[in-house]
Amino acid sequence: MAAVVQEEFFKATAGHRACFAGGCATIFIAIARSILFIKTPQDLLRSTLAALLGYLAADLVSGIYHWSVDNYGTAETPFLGFQIELFRVHHKQPWAVTKYDTARAVHIVAAAVAVLLLPPALAARDPAALGFLAAFGGFVMFSLQIHAWAHTAKKNIPAGVRALQDAGIILRPSWHAAHHRPPFNNTYCSVSGWCDPVLDKLKVFETMEVVLFHVAGVRPQCWSENKLRRDSGDSTIDEVEE
Ligand SMILES: [Zn+2]
Ligand SMILES: [Zn+2]
Repeated sequence: MAAVVQEEFFKATAGHRACFAGGCATIFIAIARSILFIKTPQDLLRSTLAALLGYLAADLVSGIYHWSVDNYGTAETPFLGFQIELFRVHHKQPWAVTKYDTARAVHIVAAAVAVLLLPPALAARDPAALGFLAAFGGFVMFSLQIHAWAHTAKKNIPAGVRALQDAGIILRPSWHAAHHRPPFNNTYCSVSGWCDPVLDKLKVFETMEVVLFHVAGVRPQCWSENKLRRDSGDSTIDEVEE
């Protein structure tokens, strides 16, 4: 019975599918309206560049989002509790993310995309702005699925997705593997991973953790994870200021 309940947990409900459909409709509207308002070659160039910018911004936002749910809040946190639990369990059982139906995994982000991006997608008339919205919203919404593919056996991934991974257009499994190795406090980006080298080199998240600790007194989860592993005798763990 427990196994049945556990399997059911990974399945999407009608509510999850409705959220996912709302997110997909928002992205479709932004793409369609962007194409509709392209009148000149300059419009096409601006839209393409804006979409590229949206793709990079989605990678950055996916990293910030992943860092925040990895490190702050609990399963009881309103609205984000499910996502926080999903990410925490993921560190202990990385394979579990591959079992979720897409709509189940992404429904909260999809709902946020629909609520926040549908109004501007309907109001904007500039093809570049719409191109940015479409790429940003689409990649943010699918970042959790892209992350799940980075943990999926190659033989179980569609050939097109595998080609995108191999080209580095979406997160490569080998790049994401660093997130699951000591010191467990970097490589958070989940769309392409292109922003990770910059964020990690500049120690952006580590600095934000220290600032938040001194300003608000909250400790990030990664400090405890490092300590647990250090106490258990894992000499590969970096020392953490406490
Ligand atoms: Zn994580
Ligand atoms: Zn992962």
